[in-house]
Amino acid sequence: MEKIGKRFDGKVAIVTASTQGIGFGIAERLGLEGAAVVISSRRQKNVDEAVKKLKDRGIEVIGLVCHVSNAQHRKDLIKNTIEKYGKLDVVVCNAAANPAVDGILETKESVLDKLWEINVKTSILLLQEAAPHLQKGSSVVFVSSIAGFQPPKGLAMYGVTKTALLGLTKALAAELAPDTRVNCVAPGFVPTHFASFLTTNEQMKKSLEEKTLLNRLGTTQDMAAAAAYLASDDASYVTGETLVVAGGMPSRL
Ligand code: NAP
Repeated sequence: MEKIGKRFDGKVAIVTASTQGIGFGIAERLGLEGAAVVISSRRQKNVDEAVKKLKDRGIEVIGLVCHVSNAQHRKDLIKNTIEKYGKLDVVVCNAAANPAVDGILETKESVLDKLWEINVKTSILLLQEAAPHLQKGSSVVFVSSIAGFQPPKGLAMYGVTKTALLGLTKALAAELAPDTRVNCVAPGFVPTHFASFLTTNEQMKKSLEEKTLLNRLGTTQDMAAAAAYLASDDASYVTGETLVVAGGMPSRL
């Protein structure tokens, strides 16, 4: 059985939206480092497949269906975690939607609502459920985006919701201190299902690669390594911060 280190031995971690892509990568990394991981997403089939993949790597894992917008699903996610493992050390809020590419002033109200709901509000609601169970020394990690720093055309309103996570990180770091640290990863562009334009549009891929200093897109493992650092005791004096993992793509506000 492969283990990368032991930073999460004896720890219990929930990662939302974690049956593929960056969330799966984070769950896998935490699990390989010794955590018991609770993974989830909207579809049972995806949950089952992801649980199998993680178990095949020797990881202690349970999987549940949790559409982050569903209050009962969020309650059940926390309840099942506590029933099975008795505590909670790490919560990674990774779910997001990007239902439209319209300019902000052309975006329908229903789409604005969905963006705020999935990308911001449901993370808050999940943490309201999780907070009573968070251990001393626990950690929350949000997954924002490079698009949160300079919301690009086509990802503008999505980017603004990701900007909101930077503020949420600061605000909750203060609210949950000193027992729980709250940090954020802002990924650059990673070819996943969510960013399928990176695999279908060669020109777009090339132009984004050229915007990095490292001349490549990110990988789910790059994002997982950063999230694992922030969630681990290696970052025990880091809270309220956002770590940009974007190959040197310009990022600061
Ligand atoms: P992905 O590969 O498409 O994976 C998305 C995962 O989320 C799947 O497991 C999906 O499974 C689940 N999911 C989708 N909607 C959900 C919902 N409402 N409730 C629960 N689970 C849900 O996406 P990704 O690229 O890894 O994106 C993950 C995060 O990284 C997002 O927050 C995204 O904004 C951020 N990000 C991505 C990039 C990039 O370039 N890829 C860049 C910056 C930031 P089901 O279909 O079974 O629900």
